[in-house]
Amino acid sequence: MSYDDNNIFAKILRGEIPCKKIYEDEFVLSFHDINPQKKIHALVIPKGKYIDLDDFCRNASTNEMVGMFKGIEKVSKKLGISMDSGKGYRVLSNIGVDGGQEVPHLHFHLFGGEKIGRMVS
Ligand code: AMP
Repeated sequence: MSYDDNNIFAKILRGEIPCKKIYEDEFVLSFHDINPQKKIHALVIPKGKYIDLDDFCRNASTNEMVGMFKGIEKVSKKLGISMDSGKGYRVLSNIGVDGGQEVPHLHFHLFGGEKIGRMVS
């Protein structure tokens, strides 16, 4: 499977579709999920063209990997849910069909602002 340049997050990265931006740097873009499942539901995506976490782990550079995870931590701080705040949050990435992935551009969901509950249902 090759990367689909027409997926919705690719369009957001190109500025063709708006998003409610939270944070951006050279490696990541973060914005609020359009259909929040919890009080806080943010997405963090790499700027590189990676389909999913599997693709990212195989093909991303070390800098991109570090940038991705640093980005998640920066977003959690910006949202006031980092461990500095004493609150905490959940990070989740769906991969492929069984993982329930809908958008084929790697993304991490950040859930917080309330108790998140069971890990899986
Ligand atoms: P997944 O099922 O892990 O692929 O999650 C895709 C997520 O993208 C869902 O939570 C959607 O609500 C979210 N989503 C889809 N389109 C947009 C958009 N235009 N802006 C923000 N979030 C979106």
